[in-house]
Amino acid sequence: MRYQRSSALFAEAKKYIPGGVNSPVRAFKAVGGEPIFVKEAKGAYLTDEDGNQYIDYISSWGPLLFGHAHKPVLKAVVEKAKKGTSFGIPTEIETELAKLAVSMVPNIDKIRFVNSGTEACMSAVRLARGYTGRDKIIKFAGCYHGHSDSFLIQAGSGAVTFGSPNSPGVTQGTAKDTLLANYNDLEGVKELVAANKGEIAGIILEPVAGNMGCIIPTDEFVKGLRQICTEEGILLLFDEVMTGFRLAKGGAQEALGINADIVMFGKVIGGGLPVGAFAAKAEIMAHLAPEGPVYQAGTLSGNPLAMSAGLAMLTEIDQNPQVFESLSKKTEYLHNGITEILSAKGIAHQINRFGSMVSVHFCEDPVVDFASSAKGNNESFKKYFHGMLDQGVYLPPSAFESYFLNDAISYADLDRTINAVSTIF
Ligand SMILES: *Cc1c(COP(=O)(O)O)cnc(C)c1O
Repeated sequence: MRYQRSSALFAEAKKYIPGGVNSPVRAFKAVGGEPIFVKEAKGAYLTDEDGNQYIDYISSWGPLLFGHAHKPVLKAVVEKAKKGTSFGIPTEIETELAKLAVSMVPNIDKIRFVNSGTEACMSAVRLARGYTGRDKIIKFAGCYHGHSDSFLIQAGSGAVTFGSPNSPGVTQGTAKDTLLANYNDLEGVKELVAANKGEIAGIILEPVAGNMGCIIPTDEFVKGLRQICTEEGILLLFDEVMTGFRLAKGGAQEALGINADIVMFGKVIGGGLPVGAFAAKAEIMAHLAPEGPVYQAGTLSGNPLAMSAGLAMLTEIDQNPQVFESLSKKTEYLHNGITEILSAKGIAHQINRFGSMVSVHFCEDPVVDFASSAKGNNESFKKYFHGMLDQGVYLPPSAFESYFLNDAISYADLDRTINAVSTIF
């Protein structure tokens, strides 16, 4: 494939935008080479500025459950735009989306909309601190909760990819309130809780991790966290920015059968427009301004275009719940196809999958936490990534990211993808 125009656009972008991108992982630093620039997309396919076509396995990092330019979402946004794009005054559609989200997700009464997953997690932690009157939080190495200061402590994907797990600019004062545990290590959490008794406001995690590749929590781990939180008056925060409305209607809470105290959303809930949200029981949400003292606000929060995209997306999901089964089957088909090839060629690998999240790790041992994920052979990953790209398959450009399938991907696309793997190795 030729990438001439993308390459020229990247050179121009670098003159005016740091690194040429507005979010680091897009720059291909982890895999080498230069990013493609997208011209347009439809269904399962991306077309770049050189006219190359790709089957897209990142779906805008999750939001596009039904594929690109999905008609009901497009129609809703276009119609809404004709009536004005932003008011900073309440609109009915905010309540419509809130009502639908609350009806789909277990254990929540009220939801507040923001503009990104980062904002949702940042605000949720403030609420947890305001509610409990405690300062500290526990997070897990390799889990990503957006780029706000409290979370840039061993933060997975982008942060790890660039070898700066603890970013300059995060103060010691902030870092000391974030305690770090290992994913799937319940004993480690118990020790931290015992050593900081009565000081921990919340335990935050990706209930199925996707920012150190896809990592599945053990039943014992999630049940144990729920129990510790209940016993110690700690809030359990599920960061469902990736898993919400992707693993099931009710997200990971439903898929794992565990109730969290505060749940954060992003990605799918915006249908491809910038939306984040956090939600909880009314008693907890009552602490949020203007009902309560915990401040949180946003000029463009609840923006009508963003709400209309979210409402169209969630309505589609609500009316077509078979999409989860369909996505899961397709992801399993891909998983089996890739496994067969890599096994036949004797290439060390681990594939983790949960619903429509999946990741391929080039290593011998099971990938259960950040340390085991980091053992993957990045040279093999680079070869795999670029080999796939050259054959028209767009995978996440980092070994620490999960794939997100969209339902526009057909079995013929999956077969083409599996054949591409076979060609590389
Ligand atoms: C993407 C992501 C975020 C951050 O969301 P942004 O919209 O990029 O700010 C937070 N948590 C998880 C689990 C994510 O995958």
